[in-house]
Amino acid sequence: MNKAIPRGATRINQRLKQFPRRHLLLASTIAASVMGLMALLPSGDVEARRNEIPMSIDAFQPQEANTELTSSPTIPESPSFASNQNADQSETAIKEAEQQAEAKALAKAAYDLEQKLGKWHIVTIKSGDNLSVLFNSQGLNASVVYQVANTPKYGETLASIRPGESLEFRINQEGTLTQLRYVKSRLESIFFNREDDGYQAEQVTLSPEIHPTYASGIIESSLFLASQKAGLSQNLTMELAGIFGWDIDFVQDIRSGDRFNLLYEEKYLEGEKLGDGDILVASFTNQGETYTAIRYTDSNGDTNYYTPDGKSMKKAFLRTPVDFTRISSRFNPNRLHPVFKTKRPHRGVDYAAPMNTPIKAAGDGRVQFSGWQNGFGNVVFIQHPNNVVTVYAHANKLAGLKKGQRVRQGQTIAYVGKTGWATGPHLHYEFRVNGVHRNPMTVKLPDAAPIAKNEMANFRKKSELMIARLEKHRETLLATQ
Ligand SMILES: [Zn+2]
Repeated sequence: MNKAIPRGATRINQRLKQFPRRHLLLASTIAASVMGLMALLPSGDVEARRNEIPMSIDAFQPQEANTELTSSPTIPESPSFASNQNADQSETAIKEAEQQAEAKALAKAAYDLEQKLGKWHIVTIKSGDNLSVLFNSQGLNASVVYQVANTPKYGETLASIRPGESLEFRINQEGTLTQLRYVKSRLESIFFNREDDGYQAEQVTLSPEIHPTYASGIIESSLFLASQKAGLSQNLTMELAGIFGWDIDFVQDIRSGDRFNLLYEEKYLEGEKLGDGDILVASFTNQGETYTAIRYTDSNGDTNYYTPDGKSMKKAFLRTPVDFTRISSRFNPNRLHPVFKTKRPHRGVDYAAPMNTPIKAAGDGRVQFSGWQNGFGNVVFIQHPNNVVTVYAHANKLAGLKKGQRVRQGQTIAYVGKTGWATGPHLHYEFRVNGVHRNPMTVKLPDAAPIAKNEMANFRKKSELMIARLEKHRETLLATQ
């Protein structure tokens, strides 16, 4: 007898460790009472009874949770504690019976809810569909459309349904719309629920899992082909080119043997890839020179790419503030006028582009002038730091900026045209430093703002970590080749 108790107790303790927390209290109570019973019985009796009690195995087999949806949940017959002296078996039995009862109760509750709310019908929105048509196809009339569309806060989102999105209707046996799901994407949906007085809605937003992913490639003919081979999407390739585009001209400068490697984010939901996230760190070797860029978000929430020593990857100015088709006239301070044969300098660059192509602010600054000037037509002057002024002339339309208004690099300020003295649609672009016209195509452009002093310690930590990670991936890959 003395031997039996500690042995049983040890085994129970081992089992307790495997139990979910919520079962612990019940289990320990049972264990205590079983041990108490065992203490009361002579050891011979324990042996004898163990052989005598037929255990009904079936009662303890786990069953499919939803096999008996229509019946009320019942707990399988429990063995009588008083007549069962096998601590282990009764322990297992109780646990399993309890879990089974719980599963059944859940299944029953789910079934009851299904009865009350009805079945789901999923409808994918097609071009030309509208709410009335979609609701009608589910046997729901105009008053239901009206009610749902007037749901506080989110009802109006239904006014902008688009092809490819879906509506999921839940309609019960009485034909009442009990729930509606407007699925905008894998990550975003609006959930409508019928209450006593109309519908209530909430937005459900899922966040994807982010997997950092490594890729590398060596260029044979073009960056595009090499990155495709490395498994990069077209968007990611454009982003990569954008990061290094300030230092490397991807049309002129690329040579066979140039290489890149990068760590970027991939977004997953339930094991399925949704798309790419940001490039975290990347390096690009062009004609033997290696450039490295680290993504960093400062304490103001501004995100930019920086060199390992904290310089901006960007310049303070775009080289060309428009996507042009060709350069129709270069900067030429000694140009002779084609007709008058007098010195008529061309103090900017003419970029020919289709009518209404957006014209971008070359750098951050303030609007000095936005309006009409003889010769220039519709023109914008932007004042930048360090006495730089940029000029954008012959616009078809202006973007409506006011004098003194702040503009950011890349912001659209006007649209290409041929107003003023111009024969075809083009942008006449000037770059003036201290009032002197400089060649916009060759003027040395200052770097954009570096990492702020008070961010430097933080940046260095992140920068070193990211470069080490990039390096580790590169070495691992080399070792497996
Ligand atoms: Zn010009």
